[in-house]
Amino acid sequence: MTASADKFTRQTLLDVQTLTPSLFTLRTTRDAGFRFVAGQFARLGVTKADGSVVWRAYSLVSSPHDEFLEFFSIVVPGGEFTSELSRLRVGDTLLIEKQATGFLTLDRFTDGRDLWLLSTGTGVAPFLSILQDFEVWERFRTIKLVYSVREGAELAYTDLVAGLEQREYLQEYAGKLQFIPVVTREDYPGALRGRITQLIEDGRLEQVAGLELSPEHSRVMICGNPQMIDDTRQLLKTRDMRLSLSRKPGQVAVENYW
Ligand code: FAD
Repeated sequence: MTASADKFTRQTLLDVQTLTPSLFTLRTTRDAGFRFVAGQFARLGVTKADGSVVWRAYSLVSSPHDEFLEFFSIVVPGGEFTSELSRLRVGDTLLIEKQATGFLTLDRFTDGRDLWLLSTGTGVAPFLSILQDFEVWERFRTIKLVYSVREGAELAYTDLVAGLEQREYLQEYAGKLQFIPVVTREDYPGALRGRITQLIEDGRLEQVAGLELSPEHSRVMICGNPQMIDDTRQLLKTRDMRLSLSRKPGQVAVENYW
């Protein structure tokens, strides 16, 4: 993937937080002209020692009204991009394409009452942006954020999620959001154990949510591991829930990370 010089800006790292040996967050400056819709991604570029630039897609964690940009990244062992990205420190430069893009946005749905946000790993990122924006709270009666990781220590941004309904601009919507952490490889306090697909199949997810997944009321966004996305889509299909397309509105929107 390449980008010509007029297609990106150079931004400065303001903060880097290591969460686990394989997960970290990055905060950068934001170009005054950079616009995006909550749920979209931008291509980030890092310059390698030989001077070449590697580009990868990254969802924005921060909200469209923040003055900075924030990203949440995995470190893939030997990964061409993340090996370089994880070396960056405060003050270093990150290239960011000017044009954000992506369709994991609320305008994919024309209606719906309950929004389910299903994520694995760093796939929670676009949902954090969506939840920090005003629109989702206004449009949906209930919001279920389902965040699946392998081990409890990988649950990132829990303070951000816990603090959403205390934000002044969201206070009137308090009680709409339920956070449902899922941990697959260990028992973890407050989290469900099992894969998202298992939890849908055996009814535990709906039981904990106190809500049915139904084509009439539910709208489902799914992000992260492509296998989880495929399997979940198949399951939802058996309940008459299908991908939402511009020519044919449906109940499901997805973003595969690889
Ligand atoms: P690659 O050679 O690109 O990937 C090697 C392998 O690592 C992949 O085949 C896959 O098995 C695994 N892998 C890649 N990404 C992930 C991941 N996120 N979690 C677990 N396993 C992974 N990554 C993020 O960390 N945060 C994001 O917000 C993010 N947003 C994305 C948005 C879109 C639209 C897409 C298409 C991808 C996104 N990714 C995100 C993935 C990202 O673009 C890169 O794949 C990732 O940075 C790894 O790059 P790499 O060169 O180190 O390894």
